[in-house]
Amino acid sequence: MQVQGLVDRYDRVATDLRVSLTDRCNLRCSYCMPAEGLDWMPTDDQLTDDEVVRLIGVAVGQLGVTEVRFTGGEPLVRRGLVDIVARTRALADELGLPVEQSLTTNALGLARTAGTLAAAGLDRVNVSLDTVRPETFATITRRDRLTDVVAGLEAAAAAGLGPVKVNAVLLRGVNDDQAAEMLAWCLERDYQLRFIEQMPLDAQHGWSREQMITADEIIERLEARFTLTPAREPRGSAPAELFRVDGGPATVGVIGSVTRPFCGDCDRVRLTADGQVRNCLFARTESDLRGPLRAGATDAELADRWRAAVRPKAAGHGIDDPTFLQPDRPMSAIGG
Ligand code: SAM
Ligand code: SF4
Repeated sequence: MQVQGLVDRYDRVATDLRVSLTDRCNLRCSYCMPAEGLDWMPTDDQLTDDEVVRLIGVAVGQLGVTEVRFTGGEPLVRRGLVDIVARTRALADELGLPVEQSLTTNALGLARTAGTLAAAGLDRVNVSLDTVRPETFATITRRDRLTDVVAGLEAAAAAGLGPVKVNAVLLRGVNDDQAAEMLAWCLERDYQLRFIEQMPLDAQHGWSREQMITADEIIERLEARFTLTPAREPRGSAPAELFRVDGGPATVGVIGSVTRPFCGDCDRVRLTADGQVRNCLFARTESDLRGPLRAGATDAELADRWRAAVRPKAAGHGIDDPTFLQPDRPMSAIGG
């Protein structure tokens, strides 16, 4: 079958699907959620496991998607996760397509489930960890759970869910003095560390450009202890600028989503937990697939709607534009 992919008006092709499985989370990172309060998505609005798998099937089978990344909220709190991964693997195998499945997670509970997830067909994990100091961890996430995250990382590596990647956000005056320490910790354990600039996607609208630690500052803080040399040119659709650390094989990534945007090469598309297609993290509109799906649309009809949703994707996120407006939904509801 000839695949007619997800092509936008600038000829970018989306092959990397981020599937949000829930907007709920067991941490409360200060750059993501308020300390308390945040309305969760009504359960009836949320796609069922069958509906998630059906839409992944459309994406993989009809739209040329080759990477599926589960996210949230916290995807590990979704009860059907293992089943969804196993069924995605089965449908990819049935179609003879080499689909890569990964998980972006805070790793709470991963120590228990890493082996099962690997057996179900998960390929990799990206674990979010912003500090290796328990007190800073509690300050950022508002929970005292660093040991669980460390155990989750170890279990992921042991289960073969590698290369294990660690994503870190630096916050001014909170952990921005710990960049080099984080890198040393990850190098010792063979985890690939990537720093991400803080983006205006928090539920409480607390982001400010002045508070954001920029890619330049991240590199400067790392260079106080390590020698960094560019590891790949050009970076293509990969958002991370990769640097070799001290000339060795180990690398560190810096994702300058705000100051060094990679929108021109973006190959992502997002499906929210309530079945909305978002063609960009910062899109102001969404396209509903849940309604048509529940009304009996065929796979071909859903694929057509999905293509139409991706076509008008904006050239860039426009954070620097004076008219920029933060999306109505926070990162935890869109899927990071
Ligand atoms: N709960 C999972 C986790 O933390 O990995 C998955 C969802 S979380 C929204 C996905 C990623 O987005 C995490 O790496 C998190 O650090 C990052 N993130 C959340 N809010 C952010 C923000 N305002 N700017 C940059 N990254 C953010
Ligand atoms: Fe939860 Fe991830 Fe947001 Fe932290 S970044 S509050 S772990 S969804």
